[in-house]
Amino acid sequence: MIINFDRTAAYRCPSCGEIAFGSFSMFELSGEKGVRIECSCGQSNLIMIPENKNNFIVSIDCLVCDETHKFSLPFQSLAKKDCTEFVCPNVAVGLVFIGRNDAVRGAVVRNEQYIEEVITACGLEHTGKNGVTMLKALDKIQELSDNENLYCECGSNMIDVEVRENDLVLECCLCGASVSLSADTIRNSDFSHLKQLILKRKK
Ligand SMILES: [Zn+2]
Ligand SMILES: [Zn+2]
Ligand SMILES: [Zn+2]
Repeated sequence: MIINFDRTAAYRCPSCGEIAFGSFSMFELSGEKGVRIECSCGQSNLIMIPENKNNFIVSIDCLVCDETHKFSLPFQSLAKKDCTEFVCPNVAVGLVFIGRNDAVRGAVVRNEQYIEEVITACGLEHTGKNGVTMLKALDKIQELSDNENLYCECGSNMIDVEVRENDLVLECCLCGASVSLSADTIRNSDFSHLKQLILKRKK
């Protein structure tokens, strides 16, 4: 019997929205330093560190929550399971997949399909890798609107929202003032902590 010590880890990059892949060997991981996998955009990484000899801690900045989630990965799972999947504790979105290469890639594809279905069910189209970001942004816009913190300089609070593949456009129904927010801006700015959003009239 040939034992394969190579493993693949994949995670959802909080910065560019793509799925980042990396490979490592179980020997590397058992060292004190652990393993770090970086997204090709260079803006994020997945860190796996031994907690003790039976367990690893996996940490990842969450695309949805803007905070770091830590998951526990038992050595037994890494050694025996084809793929271990970690989901955001707040929204059911797969964030991290660790295991054998084929199984990890299969799980990633299944998770993308699932997210696509959820997004379609929410009435959005053509969002691709930005789907999760757009859902999160819509949730925030709804919250701002509910608290009367979304309005236009002209005094109107009738704001139309259009979701496109790479950006989201807010437009005042009264005066036509608009603002466009790119998915990258939404991911990499303080968008989820915005207190208010005011559309400015074109001069
Ligand atoms: Zn990235
Ligand atoms: Zn999360
Ligand atoms: Zn207006």
